Amino acid sequence: METAILPPLMQSVELFYPQLNTPSKVVVTMHQKPDGDAMGAALGLYHFLIAMGHEATVIDFEQQKERALGIINQAEMIFCLDFNILHRTKNMEQPLLAAQCTKILIDHHEQPQEDAFTYGISNTAKSSTCEMVYDFIVASGHADKLNTNIAECLYTGVMTDTGSFRFPATTASVHRMIADLKDIGLKHTRVHDNIYDNFLENRLRFIGYALVNRMEVLYEYNTALMYITRADLQRYNIKTGDTEGLVNYLLTIQGIKFGALVIDREGERKWSFRSKGSFDVNTFARKHFNGGGHVNAAGGSSYDSLDENVKRFKEIIKEYQNQLQ
Ligand code: 5GP
Ligand code: MN
Repeated sequence: METAILPPLMQSVELFYPQLNTPSKVVVTMHQKPDGDAMGAALGLYHFLIAMGHEATVIDFEQQKERALGIINQAEMIFCLDFNILHRTKNMEQPLLAAQCTKILIDHHEQPQEDAFTYGISNTAKSSTCEMVYDFIVASGHADKLNTNIAECLYTGVMTDTGSFRFPATTASVHRMIADLKDIGLKHTRVHDNIYDNFLENRLRFIGYALVNRMEVLYEYNTALMYITRADLQRYNIKTGDTEGLVNYLLTIQGIKFGALVIDREGERKWSFRSKGSFDVNTFARKHFNGGGHVNAAGGSSYDSLDENVKRFKEIIKEYQNQLQ
């Protein structure tokens, strides 16, 4: 009989806590094109690790590949934040696989790749990775290291991933965490202003244009669809971050349970899916658009043309008519 040698599965993060006390070379990284939660979690954890005496570096691999490779090779531990599968880091997947050091996952997405991490915690009930980094700091016994830098970073991700404290994952523990950060000295309006009231005029005009010209409401499926062409992005000089939140407008229409946005990005067509209630967009994204995420927020991608994607979506949605009633 042949015995397959399987890689060991991720161990509970509690078993890792003692290693926090030994100053080490630590890398903190997150998924490609990091959002508020990924950036907040990475920078929040960075400030904590520095306070603990570690030599920490945050890596956004796509920004500085060569330098990042050198730092990964030197690392004694790597924290992977706000992603469940290594390929969410795109070009960093292979370097992460090759790295022989301790890898720690902190994440709240469905179905983590457990064989890729030494230690970790994956909890889909959590509002955000930032909430989980806060839990990690407190549970490891180092709440005394929390400071206003950490507080601002972690607040950012909880705020963005909960839609400013309105999505169902906004639990009592989330509010308790924020209360604790306020006690430490967090100035929360500063974070709101910097994130939500800091755009250029073109972004608002682009949103107006997209809502008028690029949205279709499919009432028979309680679904709204939006597609953004390459020309639209160029015409309004739209950068990646400018389209964040656009998909949420679709769910503001009465009765709409499923919002889908596809953008013609360089190299791929990128989907964002949002739902209300029980319609599971993680499963939908995995099955049809090579993606994943959470039950009510997921993403995916395709190499087909924008038109092909829109056509295919309108075909697929027919299968879900009953679920969307
Ligand atoms: P967004 O629509 O804001 O880009 O992403 C929504 C959620 O789905 C996020 O939690 C994000 O991490 C996840 N997500 C987005 N795109 C992908 C993808 O292509 N694959 C997987 N597995 N998850 C994705
Ligand atoms: Mn997140």
